[in-house]
Amino acid sequence: MRTLDDLDVEGKRVLVRVDFNVPRDEAGRITDDSRIRAALPTLNELRERGARLLLAAHLGRPKDREPEFSLRPAADRLSELIGTEVKLAELDDVPEGDVVMLENVRYEQGETKNDPDLAERYAALADAYVNDAFGAAHRAHASTEAVAHLLPSAAGRLLEREVTALRGILEDPQRPLVAVVGGAKVTDKIGVLDAFLERADEILIGGAMCFPFFKAQGHSVGDSLCEEEGIEPAARVLRAGRDKLQLPVDLVAGQEFNADTPIRAIDGVDVPEGWMGLDIGPSTAERYADAVKDAGTVFWNGPMGAFELAPFAAGTKAVAEAMAVSSATTVVGGGDSAAALAQFGLAEMVDHLSTGGGASLELVEGKPLPGVEALT
Ligand code: ADP
Ligand code: MG
Repeated sequence: MRTLDDLDVEGKRVLVRVDFNVPRDEAGRITDDSRIRAALPTLNELRERGARLLLAAHLGRPKDREPEFSLRPAADRLSELIGTEVKLAELDDVPEGDVVMLENVRYEQGETKNDPDLAERYAALADAYVNDAFGAAHRAHASTEAVAHLLPSAAGRLLEREVTALRGILEDPQRPLVAVVGGAKVTDKIGVLDAFLERADEILIGGAMCFPFFKAQGHSVGDSLCEEEGIEPAARVLRAGRDKLQLPVDLVAGQEFNADTPIRAIDGVDVPEGWMGLDIGPSTAERYADAVKDAGTVFWNGPMGAFELAPFAAGTKAVAEAMAVSSATTVVGGGDSAAALAQFGLAEMVDHLSTGGGASLELVEGKPLPGVEALT
């Protein structure tokens, strides 16, 4: 993959695809600007090397040109962060300027269709192309794929770091390689489970996705969140991964999905009617934490329980704290796993916290990412 080291940018206008798909509140204010901050190393380097920037990004999934999907708040936030005016421009009316940002690329009809004509229009505006939008690299869109073939192109520093860290897990991991996989659904994570069945030394399962496994084993799951379509794949993973797979041995349950619900500890994994398993229990948390501490490499995706609710955060917190102190190479993917780390104040303590949800999972699954392939 070509990187910024391979690109001549001095005196050029560089089209930079960034991932500014930030979360917003009802008033449209940005609630977390980490994705904007994550692009700064690339943007600063390009400017220091004498490039003018033309930024391209998407926000949400607009059907039309709805104003709530405007990149105006992102342009203003970036302007504060770099201390320079960031002009927001329509594709057919791009002004001169050191830093200009195109309006939401998904306002353009052809963007998600990887339309070659739209890519030509992007390319006509710049001398070179840099893709730093790792979070969008698993999509073949006009601003992530087609345009990369029309200009001298390279990966930005964020994209480069993501690909290096995540491929490192697959290609040459320090062993033991431990995967901690949790979250809501087996079907979301089945590709990751399959990839790690081949490569990992241990796979630790938590979150609501343990219930399809337990159901496949004949346990009662009570009112737990248990994805029906996950039972069959879980049964298959159980057969394939007998020697590697670890499931919870105890649980914390509540009657409802809220923080004030009555709580009970369950020794074992049979959940009574009227109760739902909402966290792994303390024995499981201790085992998982020990495995993380003893690992050479850890990949973690998906919380161990409903960590947003304080009474059910302990299992996720135990894993997060073990990640923080482990001498292993620690890599975290997944939006909610990242949110959990941030909630515990541990986001800085892991070696790599991926900014890409779907993209990081697909990369770990060993799938080629169109946005990356186009730079190779
Ligand atoms: P990520 O975004 O890190 O990939 P997921 O989106 O797969 O993670 O899953 C996160 C969600 O799963 C969280 O909202 C969390 O509350 C929920 N969750 C985890 N365990 C449970 C559980 N036992 N019961 C209900 N919800 C759960
Ligand atoms: Mg999620």
